[in-house]
Amino acid sequence: MLKVAEVFRSVQGEGFWTGTPAAFIRLQGCGVGCPWCDTPYTWKQAPAPVAFEALIQAPPESPIMAEVEPQELAQWVERQRVRHVVVTGGEPFEQDLEALLARLGADGCFVQVETSGTVGVPHTTLGQTDWITVSPKVGMPGGRQVDPRMLDLADEIKMPVGRDRDLAVLLDLLGRRHGDPVPVWLQPLSQSPAATRLCIDAAALHGWRVSLQTHKLAGLR
Ligand code: SF4
Repeated sequence: MLKVAEVFRSVQGEGFWTGTPAAFIRLQGCGVGCPWCDTPYTWKQAPAPVAFEALIQAPPESPIMAEVEPQELAQWVERQRVRHVVVTGGEPFEQDLEALLARLGADGCFVQVETSGTVGVPHTTLGQTDWITVSPKVGMPGGRQVDPRMLDLADEIKMPVGRDRDLAVLLDLLGRRHGDPVPVWLQPLSQSPAATRLCIDAAALHGWRVSLQTHKLAGLR
């Protein structure tokens, strides 16, 4: 059973797959504790699980959670009539995703997992993902470290940026990364004009890209 905070169909608004219709599975739980987190309702355990059907019908960002079998989640994905599935959180790798990823893979889905990179994950699980988006979280109140192996295995790196220091952290992480170059996205914190300008300048300098949360601009989940 997986603890699930919400499921919905929308469009991927961030990073490489921007514009792709997708089924989103947002898992419950995250111990990273980013002060600017836009999904804090995933942090705490809801008092008691609700039925999956109630979760499906719930308004966005409801402080509820359902415990759902991977097979039920896969059946819900099938009803969404999209092949791109985004498993996100919270921090999705705090839970064992192996059965869910295996089932979605067997159904022919393309599975993207969005992670902070702060949880070490078995190779067997990572091998079942089609795309790993690592959004590194460094120096957060939870005290977690970014696992270097997760950085090495990332298909894209999406860095939240609010100030110069975030860029220095990113350069340090990239300097220690092994493997082929991957797209690097700078995501302005809270879409503020100052952060966005900072991201544009840095992207121009380093050959990176700026990821605007286009689903939010469109008023979508
Ligand atoms: S890692 Fe993601 S879900 Fe967790 S606190 Fe940070 S922004 Fe929120």
